[in-house]
Amino acid sequence: MGLSFRKTCIITIEELRKIGLMPPQNRLKRGPVVLIECPEEIPCNICVDACPFNAINMERITSIPKVDWDKCVGCGVCVTSCPGLAIFVVDVSREDTAFVTVPYEFLPRPKPGEKVIILGRDGRSLGQGVVKAVFEQNKTLAVKIEVPKEIAFEVKGIRVVKTSG
Ligand code: SF4
Ligand code: SF4
Repeated sequence: MGLSFRKTCIITIEELRKIGLMPPQNRLKRGPVVLIECPEEIPCNICVDACPFNAINMERITSIPKVDWDKCVGCGVCVTSCPGLAIFVVDVSREDTAFVTVPYEFLPRPKPGEKVIILGRDGRSLGQGVVKAVFEQNKTLAVKIEVPKEIAFEVKGIRVVKTSG
């Protein structure tokens, strides 16, 4: 497909757009929506079955997932289902701030209200975010974080900051 992530191992927003996995602007304005970063055409379709709203589909088990943007309600259930930790939910519908839901499988567990380090595609810190909600499914947490709007699509993980007390 000629995408540069094959060399860098880091996919870009432009590449996600090319393969149809970047939510369209009119959908982003309406609220939280899934962001699937799975370009590799691997034999996996767990997210298809995980979505309670049938918003993810695939032609074949090795196809890139396709999202029905109108069916996705941004619930985050699929975030915890992906063995590759490749699914996120973004909400950039507000003017002043953004929310991103990321998968998390480490300790300590983040708690609502805590500040955490937010990590970008290359694993480096992008600054701090605030945990707004946490839910667990399949032994994986889905952690919703409030982040600066300009980096919403770059947030791919968190690191919990150990605080005293
Ligand atoms: S966020 Fe919820 S509705 Fe959207 S694709 Fe994932 S499971 Fe389905
Ligand atoms: S569950 Fe994850 S790795 Fe499997 S197809 Fe879906 S997004 Fe890709």
